[in-house]
Amino acid sequence: MTLILGDWLITNTHEAPKRGWGVRVVGDTIMAAAPHAELRAQFPDDAVHDASGCVIAPGFVNAHVHLYGVLAHGIPLAKAPADFWGFLNDFWWRLVEDALDHEMICAATDWVCAEMLRSGITSFYDCLEAPHALPGALLAQKQVVDKYGLRAILSFEATERVSKDNGQLGLQENAEFIEHCQRKKSLVQGLMCFHTTFTCSADFIQQAFAMGQARGVLTHCHCNEGVHEPNYALAHFGMRTLEYYDQLGVTGSHMMASQCVQLSDRELAIIAEKNIRVTHMPLSNCEVGGGIAPIPQQVANGVMVGLGSDGYINDFFEVMRGAFLIHKAHQQNPQVMPAHLVWQLATEGGAQAMALEKVGRLEVGWAADLQLIDAHFPTPAAEHNLYDQLLLWRNHTHVRDVMVAGQWRVRDGLVLGADMPALRAHLHENARRLWAKAV
Ligand SMILES: [Zn+2]
Repeated sequence: MTLILGDWLITNTHEAPKRGWGVRVVGDTIMAAAPHAELRAQFPDDAVHDASGCVIAPGFVNAHVHLYGVLAHGIPLAKAPADFWGFLNDFWWRLVEDALDHEMICAATDWVCAEMLRSGITSFYDCLEAPHALPGALLAQKQVVDKYGLRAILSFEATERVSKDNGQLGLQENAEFIEHCQRKKSLVQGLMCFHTTFTCSADFIQQAFAMGQARGVLTHCHCNEGVHEPNYALAHFGMRTLEYYDQLGVTGSHMMASQCVQLSDRELAIIAEKNIRVTHMPLSNCEVGGGIAPIPQQVANGVMVGLGSDGYINDFFEVMRGAFLIHKAHQQNPQVMPAHLVWQLATEGGAQAMALEKVGRLEVGWAADLQLIDAHFPTPAAEHNLYDQLLLWRNHTHVRDVMVAGQWRVRDGLVLGADMPALRAHLHENARRLWAKAV
């Protein structure tokens, strides 16, 4: 039983931050949130974790990441891909996904888990795309994630791009992993996952959803990350992507669609009507030239929206700044995407998108997933500006301590149990192996 007492507490982003409040953690759960004096009086025998000079905030939920993506940072390319299709076909599939093996995947997972914890991320959803690393890739990845005590959903992106048999192996990888995690209660779970409408047949897509629903988990796909997929769907099915999914009878709240950048009004309506879960990756949407996702509209429609790094830039403060700024420029309106809303997407919104229960707030009965962020801002912090202060003028170096499920995983800026120079050396070695295949 621990009292964590800081300068400020963010319980949830629908309320103003609370000055001079703290939380009581019992086991893996928040059991009280109140002013310091009240907590000390009620629980005089509890240990006290002094978080003075810090904001206590919910841990970030990275609702879409590709852990292996770090291996591609700085990979030699003759020239930048011409468009989104070129990004996938000439670069990502051939030079990265198809060349991955278990050791590369584990080296990347090791580094990025430490990197994410260091930036206050306590939960994440990963989508592994490595058709030649089957089977057993998810179990290998889980062993690494378990070391860090992160809350995670891992999945393999099944695709018929390589062959029909390879697609089946991918679905099977997910099914076995989901069942494995369901048997052994831990912070790591699985879900069902396939790629897109342009790499998977109708039968395959329906099979994936049926396998997900039979196991009581979400089914994830990438959706309309650029104009390629809706154009493909129009040419091959006579309708846009989400209309096609709707016609296949697979849309619903069990569907998590990441990206959702290029959407028609009808597709936006389908997402809202069918309660499809959406994840938003502002920085990687820029990287691939995909466009700017209509996220303010999705939020206004009441859609569950989470924020993700996509494995591109994993410092979640940078991801939040992307979401905060890009829509203001796009809509020429500084009022859209205020800081507290972006914080909501980065915490509770992401947990909702991933169907994690009682994650993303620091309230009684919710998970003790939290971060302590240095609050020595250049200008005075106040109720009216704290979300902006944190979002705009902090970064991962300001995250002092991080707790996941009641356990400290970062103390004084150090990720516990992580030998960063050794992790970096291992990652370099594996990046070199991958890059050697690219030239
Ligand atoms: Zn992605």
